[in-house]
Amino acid sequence: MEKLYLNQINNVTENYKFITEEIANSALKSGKTSEDITFLAATKTVDVQVINHAISLGLNAIGENRVQELLSKYDEYNLTNCDLQFIGTLQRNKIKNIIDKVSQIQSIYTIDQVKEVSKLSEKLGIKMPILIEVNIGKEESKGGVMPEAILEFIDEARLYSGVKINGLMTIPPICDNKIELMQFFSLIHKYFIDIEGKKMDNVYMNCLSMGMSSDYNEAILCGANMVRIGSSLFGARQY
Ligand SMILES: *Cc1c(COP(=O)(O)O)cnc(C)c1O
Repeated sequence: MEKLYLNQINNVTENYKFITEEIANSALKSGKTSEDITFLAATKTVDVQVINHAISLGLNAIGENRVQELLSKYDEYNLTNCDLQFIGTLQRNKIKNIIDKVSQIQSIYTIDQVKEVSKLSEKLGIKMPILIEVNIGKEESKGGVMPEAILEFIDEARLYSGVKINGLMTIPPICDNKIELMQFFSLIHKYFIDIEGKKMDNVYMNCLSMGMSSDYNEAILCGANMVRIGSSLFGARQY
């Protein structure tokens, strides 16, 4: 058991180094630097000791998917130099459990969610940054605002004063090839730029969150400034 754990820790050290180098290279290729890209680790199923090890290496953003899991680990995360965000599907009635624990909610796509986040944030005297999740491939199996409805959605969501519209997030469809994949990434980047250009009150296109273990380099090349990486950093998930 002890040995397995040490192995995993060593692997995470190596993987972290590899991924940060890749991110820096892709950032350069897209006219940015590594500082422009947030490497957020997707920490679902990962032991908090392993997460804290990654944080000790310099990781400064983590994201959880499930409210229950976040709460069970919350007291043990070492968050002094690290941001905790929520990246999973968020049921309206569970928002109250995490609202005072996360620095951003990445997966908002109904006005009901916006209302609830806003109401709870106002009670705490904060303004919660949220990303609008976009169903860029218009897949029936996925949540997210449809691309043609993004603008209308944001125009309504921005009126809730307990939230700050901080950007967009997406998970593209599984694609046969990188060209097709990069077309989805580029399409959402285009929306991101268009919306930014409109300079709407309470809308800040600071964050374009896309790209996971298998495609973070392509995402950065297409304009992502946040990537969410799980298995490439921590190894295959054990459910
Ligand atoms: C799990 C997860 C990731 C990371 O997936 P990997 O393929 O393991 O890198 C990214 N984003 C979300 C929303 C996730 O749930």
